[in-house]
Amino acid sequence: RAKDEGRARYCLHSAELDRKVHERVELTNDLRAALDNGEMELYYQPQVKLASGQIVGLEALLRWNHPQRGLLMPDGFIPIAEKTGSINALGHWVLDRACQQIKDWRDQGIAPPLVAINVSAAELYTNSGYEQFLSESFKRWDVAPGDIELELTESVLMETTQAHGDTLTRIRDLGASIAIDDFGTGYSSLAYLSAYPVSRLKIAQQFVLGIPDNASDMVITRVTLGLARELNVEVVAEGVQTKAQLDFLMSAGCTVGQGFYFSRPVQAGRVTELLRGGFIEPTVKCDENPAPN
Ligand code: C2E
Ligand code: MG
Ligand code: MG
Ligand code: MG
Repeated sequence: RAKDEGRARYCLHSAELDRKVHERVELTNDLRAALDNGEMELYYQPQVKLASGQIVGLEALLRWNHPQRGLLMPDGFIPIAEKTGSINALGHWVLDRACQQIKDWRDQGIAPPLVAINVSAAELYTNSGYEQFLSESFKRWDVAPGDIELELTESVLMETTQAHGDTLTRIRDLGASIAIDDFGTGYSSLAYLSAYPVSRLKIAQQFVLGIPDNASDMVITRVTLGLARELNVEVVAEGVQTKAQLDFLMSAGCTVGQGFYFSRPVQAGRVTELLRGGFIEPTVKCDENPAPN
């Protein structure tokens, strides 16, 4: 009996595994054509001044409108793209599309805030020409390097060797700014702050989520804010979802936040409307009315 059960479990497990492997293979193949087929789209999530709701930044977040599977979130395909090499083409597209969007907004008479894009280690370091591509996109769309911020995670910085450090310095010299994403979730965060030309850090969502019930998350948030203040690095709190979190962050001296409380990531058309207003009305409360992401 035990043996049979073991075998049944094994079969189940192997069927599940088969399905996952199959899905990965399919997504890997689909990814190759996705860009050419126009299936990728950038959503934008506002970063706002906590005190006023003024929109001071936008984070570009990648979405894949898959013809069969529907809307796919980046966690479902970015890791595959990183392993299979598609990430370079994807990353170039993201950067170029964001620059084009900035130009579009300017053409419509809208002054866009800082636009942040996420960059993987693979994009930055497997391809020595990243900063060249940056300057090409800036030229192509008549965008100033200061309009764009690159969000790097601590794991990206962890893989940074001397040569890579030079890449970051060249990017900074171009005039693009660098933010550390998900701050506090990686290793030796403090060393990175002094070793690299970082202008902002983003307090990871996981700490903000713990406010106001988890004492250590609140301590970490406070200490991070103090550290950033001392080092003259700006802070964005990620994943702000409630009024209680907003109140705590403000009392701890945080000035800028991003999260469902203000706005979910939205399509370009919607963000254009938000930018025309310039502010996110504090009455737009996502906590009471959670919409699908
Ligand atoms: P991230 O850069 O840390 O982005 C923040 C994630 O948190 C986004 O998920 C966003 O939708 C989500 N988020 C924002 N506010 C809230 C909130 O209040 N509550 C909760 N629960 N979540 C919130 P998303 O869009 O699924 O992206 C996931 C990750 O995928 C990103 O994490 C980033 O690491 C990666 N990613 C997204 N776009 C790109 C891209 O263009 N290139 C690369 N290399 N990675 C990307
Ligand atoms: Mg990010
Ligand atoms: Mg983040
Ligand atoms: Mg993340």
